[in-house]
Amino acid sequence: MSQLPNPRPLVTSANEVFWNATAEGRLVLQRCSSCDTVAWPTRRHCPTCWTETLVEFDASGRGTIYSFTIVRKGQMDYKDAGPFVVAYVELDEGPRVMTNIVECEPDDVEVDMPVEVVFCDTGHGNALYRFRPAR
Ligand SMILES: [Zn+2]
Repeated sequence: MSQLPNPRPLVTSANEVFWNATAEGRLVLQRCSSCDTVAWPTRRHCPTCWTETLVEFDASGRGTIYSFTIVRKGQMDYKDAGPFVVAYVELDEGPRVMTNIVECEPDDVEVDMPVEVVFCDTGHGNALYRFRPAR
């Protein structure tokens, strides 16, 4: 298994509620109180009806792998990481998030595999969300 770096994310006024929650081990989504759309990443306007009626809530942290690829040669912060998995995980609540699959060998990853979130401390007051096979 490769050891991935934990680079600091770009925190903005629109996503700081999300990144602040990662420090507490929470994966925050938003639900539109007008049309029930579940949104990620956090934002000011509903991506479906454009109202500003989004309300934050904690995701279950569970989902399944929608698609993935194995990166054998990373770049920038990931240039020294061994082969690692970049995946889209479809959360149980609906949104698909781009992430890494960790705590398993890349060749063991499969589409539709159930996964659960883990948080990797960046050392800057937040954590990166990654997923491992569900236990
Ligand atoms: Zn809406």
